Amino acid sequence: MENTTVKPSPMPLTGSSAEEILNQLKGLKAKDVPWKTGKVLAYIYGLDDTARNLVETAYAHFLHENGLDPTAFPSLLKIENDLIASVRHLLQGDENVVGNFTSGGTESIMLSLKTARDYFRHHRPEIKRPEVIVSESTHPAFQKACHYLDMDIKVLPINTTTFKADPAAIEAAITENTVMLVASTPCYPFGVIDPVEEIAALAKARGIFCHVDACVGGMYLPFLRKLGHDIPKFDFAVDGVTSISCDLHKYGYAAKGASTILYKNDDIRRFQIYTCANWSGYTLSNSTVLSSKTGGPMAGAWAIFNYWGEEGYKKVVKATQDATQMVLDGIKEIPQLEVLGDPVMNLVAMVSNDENLSVFDISDMMQDKGWHIQVQLASPASKEAIHLNVNKENVPHIPQLIQDLKDCITALGQPKSEDAEGMAIDPAIIQGLFANFSPEVFESMQSMLGMGGGQVPDKLGFISTILNSLNIEQRNMVITEFMNKMFTPTSEE
Ligand SMILES: *Cc1c(COP(=O)(O)O)cnc(C)c1O
Repeated sequence: MENTTVKPSPMPLTGSSAEEILNQLKGLKAKDVPWKTGKVLAYIYGLDDTARNLVETAYAHFLHENGLDPTAFPSLLKIENDLIASVRHLLQGDENVVGNFTSGGTESIMLSLKTARDYFRHHRPEIKRPEVIVSESTHPAFQKACHYLDMDIKVLPINTTTFKADPAAIEAAITENTVMLVASTPCYPFGVIDPVEEIAALAKARGIFCHVDACVGGMYLPFLRKLGHDIPKFDFAVDGVTSISCDLHKYGYAAKGASTILYKNDDIRRFQIYTCANWSGYTLSNSTVLSSKTGGPMAGAWAIFNYWGEEGYKKVVKATQDATQMVLDGIKEIPQLEVLGDPVMNLVAMVSNDENLSVFDISDMMQDKGWHIQVQLASPASKEAIHLNVNKENVPHIPQLIQDLKDCITALGQPKSEDAEGMAIDPAIIQGLFANFSPEVFESMQSMLGMGGGQVPDKLGFISTILNSLNIEQRNMVITEFMNKMFTPTSEE
């Protein structure tokens, strides 16, 4: 069904038929990650066809409604309040807990920080530079939010055995300016749960906030607990937790554009709301960042919540966790790979313990075999790693996954022939090349990196290997330039 006759931009002079347009759009997906194969271990939180159709129908049903004004669309207000009630229940909040539906984890996190900033501006005006404390494994949405909100942030080392946040380091880093501590449940890179009770106790003792980032775990861990797994207290059951972010577009299985942010009470949430009566137009009061917004994502989430119910989620979590256990058992048979920490759910990071075996090469070779596997660059906590996000669609393919990993490792262990593709990359040479990095240098390196305007490189292993040998500042610069070039308007001929 491949359609390669995709018309270039700009907007054509005259239109085409709906059928032709839809065919072209479908054709555009040809090079996308083939997530329906069950061989993709990132990005997609898959549904069976029936559930997916329901979510799509519900989403489309509210696509054109506008969440700008809940008084004009009480349907959306009701849907949002229903969703928050469900998440509050799952996260053991009492009747004082309130929250809002947002477009994603990043927005939820950004709002948690804006709320903390403005709450402490009001209640503790002596704090001039509000500061947040996170850990290296905390999602970068917190650093991004601080960047946007002009707040200070300290990123602390984690425990290099457990890969969890280190409460002693956090305690030592707290200053007069600290307004919020953060715990991840679990963190995305390693799938381990930070010691929430200890971190929340530190916050409570100082009258500051403790945010729990349950973006990936909030719709999974409560069901895992119901299935009998030993999950430490991590939610509003922990004294001192003041806000929680919980995505619905991950293990809530809603379509993307769906997350929640919950607060201990509305005395805190008040500071999230932005109202402006100072203009000549309609009265603007936004609970979240977006103003005009579609009702699609929340209707999709509402549909799947009510279609599955708690029993349905429990079944899905069980299937997913069983799949993860199969992967972990399989990896144990591969002496060159080592799982980091003790992942509590379906997020698994593993490193190569053979210095001649690069995880980036494994990932590229696995791509040739139809797999899509994320990699993580080296950081102070761990060397470069493969990251697997195991989902239930992967289940029938797991024996093949393990076999393919073994085959790749065997193949990569063979001595390389002289004319083999690829080249050994000497970190010292790379460092030299990038020592005087600038946008101009990047221009001249684009072809070496396998990218021209608007094109995505086929294989990322080579680029990952280069990035891995750079320091954080250099990585940031290179990746920004890469992004800046990738988004180049389609050429007109
Ligand atoms: C995915 C994720 C986020 C960010 O969520 P987006 O929906 O991608 O904006 C934040 N924290 C954790 C732990 C996550 O897994």
